[in-house]
Amino acid sequence: MRTQPAAAALALLSENCEDRIVSPPTTRRRVLLSAAAGLAAWAGKRAVAIVPQGKQRGVRLDAAVQLSCREFDFADVTLLPGPFRDAMSRDLDYLASFDCDRLLSPFQQVAGLPRRAPSLGGWESQGLASHYCGHYLSAAAIMHAHTHDPRLARKVDYLLPRLAACQEANGREDPDFRGYCAGIPESKPAFRQVLAGQMDFGQSHGLYSFHINGLWSPWYTIHKVMAGLRDVWLHMGRAQARDILLAMTEWAAQFPRRLDLAQMQAMLVSEQGGMNEVLADVYSMTGDEAHRTLAEQFNQAAQLAPLMRRQDILDGVHSNQYIPRVIGIARQYELTGSDDYRTGAEFFWQNVVRQRTFVFGGHGNRENFFPIGDAWQQLSVGSAETCCTYNMLKLTSHYFSWNASMEAADFFERALINHILGSQDPATGMMTYYYSMQPGHFKTFSSKWDSCWCCDGTGLENHARYSRGVYYHERDTLWVNLYLASQLQWREKGLTIRQHTRFPESNSVRMQIACARPVRATLRLRHPHWSTPAMLAKLNGRPIDTGKPGTYLDITRHWRDGDVLEIELRTPPRIERMAHHPSKLAILSGPIVLAGVLGDALMAPPIPYATVDQYQWEKVPDPVRAPTLAIGGRPVEEWVKPDAAEPLVWHTQGAGRPADIRLVPLYRVARERYVVYFDEERAAGQALPG
Ligand SMILES: [Zn+2]
Repeated sequence: MRTQPAAAALALLSENCEDRIVSPPTTRRRVLLSAAAGLAAWAGKRAVAIVPQGKQRGVRLDAAVQLSCREFDFADVTLLPGPFRDAMSRDLDYLASFDCDRLLSPFQQVAGLPRRAPSLGGWESQGLASHYCGHYLSAAAIMHAHTHDPRLARKVDYLLPRLAACQEANGREDPDFRGYCAGIPESKPAFRQVLAGQMDFGQSHGLYSFHINGLWSPWYTIHKVMAGLRDVWLHMGRAQARDILLAMTEWAAQFPRRLDLAQMQAMLVSEQGGMNEVLADVYSMTGDEAHRTLAEQFNQAAQLAPLMRRQDILDGVHSNQYIPRVIGIARQYELTGSDDYRTGAEFFWQNVVRQRTFVFGGHGNRENFFPIGDAWQQLSVGSAETCCTYNMLKLTSHYFSWNASMEAADFFERALINHILGSQDPATGMMTYYYSMQPGHFKTFSSKWDSCWCCDGTGLENHARYSRGVYYHERDTLWVNLYLASQLQWREKGLTIRQHTRFPESNSVRMQIACARPVRATLRLRHPHWSTPAMLAKLNGRPIDTGKPGTYLDITRHWRDGDVLEIELRTPPRIERMAHHPSKLAILSGPIVLAGVLGDALMAPPIPYATVDQYQWEKVPDPVRAPTLAIGGRPVEEWVKPDAAEPLVWHTQGAGRPADIRLVPLYRVARERYVVYFDEERAAGQALPG
């Protein structure tokens, strides 16, 4: 059954972007010429940050708009010892342990080539087969940029020629599949039907569907494979990755050539990840206008056009289908300068972050946005799909580069510490799918080879990406947005900054400057709103005025080799009440969300590790009644006290009912029951705050 697009929706898009929809056909020759030019652009230049990009290695186009600031390349920021590097190390171990033949197996099966190993389990043995290889390529490329670990280079170099062989075999068999490179089961007959304009979306969800002609979100998987090849090209410089990617682009280009506008929009109802993003990245790599057009042909009108009119249609929509499409128009704004795209992306970001996000940075219930104000009754085992926060952080990187807003930096920190860092099991390195908010329940983690969920795929990348969002730069200004142990090489300035800290485990930060000669620059330090009283700072041992929390502290001077900046953050306890339902509240220390921990009753192994079903432990009973709080209007520092012996551990004092509560950072909770939103008990007639 065909769902929307609806002529009305097309008309909505065409009001704003009519000239973007119709394109001249892309020719094979143009692509090859562009590829050669792209290779020339890569050679001899340093690595590139694609978000936001510069005219650097691997890309031909600089941003078409004035950016407030830019990110650094992954290779420019190295993590130093601390909790984030620990998480990255666990991810590196996982990446190094993969059997590449298992990743290749679904590709070879579709291509009719011999297989050397069975596919991985879980979703890799189902309709989403081969999505994991795409994530693997992205994660390995990013991790390699940080670590130069030769094991990852060997694995990527093993995968690429075999993926190319699959691509070639697909094209030999059928010209309709020239350039096709994916391992989606039964995809060829289903895509032949699509190319003939025959589309069946199975169960309709209105604006979106998971299916097309019996396939499970095939464009989603294709996006992951293409994004992986893009990252290998950009961060490892492997020309074969670029060649496979460009041939896949050619394969994708036949869809808008052979389908009319209504058919093309219909196809995009099926989950497509961020096809409009990766195709925009291809445009940035080749500079070929046909690729710009192609990227825009993958913009789905029904979801994106309302955002450009600042119309909120998010209630009930699948979040992780929506965000990547918005990232796509964010990227297209940077490359085309179209204000409509910026308007849509900004409206979406502000709507989700300001009105739909839980205290720890995640959002949604059972993968969907729910009505604003409904959060109090959406605290479930299926709260906050981890992929969604992965994607919101990507979107935030674009958003921050446009406006350098403190609000964006605050959200990034909140989500990174409380959700992403906490989505990895410290014992096994495995990942969460949902982030349970059901009081008294627990986090469910995946199994190494038998889950392969979407959130495992994005999780592979999450823990390789911790250098993202720490530093930004523009001209002589360097933003320090996150207090996160790392070393930055600001190559244009010849300046190196080593940021030593164990934050969020310690509040002390020491930044040491190294430079061959004095460098005049402004260090723009984030003074977080939660650091009350104001953070303290010393430059070369002398105290400096840090100004007000919630602003940036600018220090402009000639920086000299050996300069030392010391910062002491303040993280007293505080509470945040749930918007629209203030009798539910969360307890924090600085940016750290604290969870009340409730033991591990009825959690015998293999709990909390699931295999193929992300809901495997949903029905496990929660025998411990979640405690409540009776605070009687007292300020939080009177009823939340630090543990005398254990750092980061707090206790309620005279406020927990039926007993006081041990509080630990939510990101550290694993294999234990917890509660994040506490109900406040109120005396009869006592007014609610706010
Ligand atoms: Zn997911």
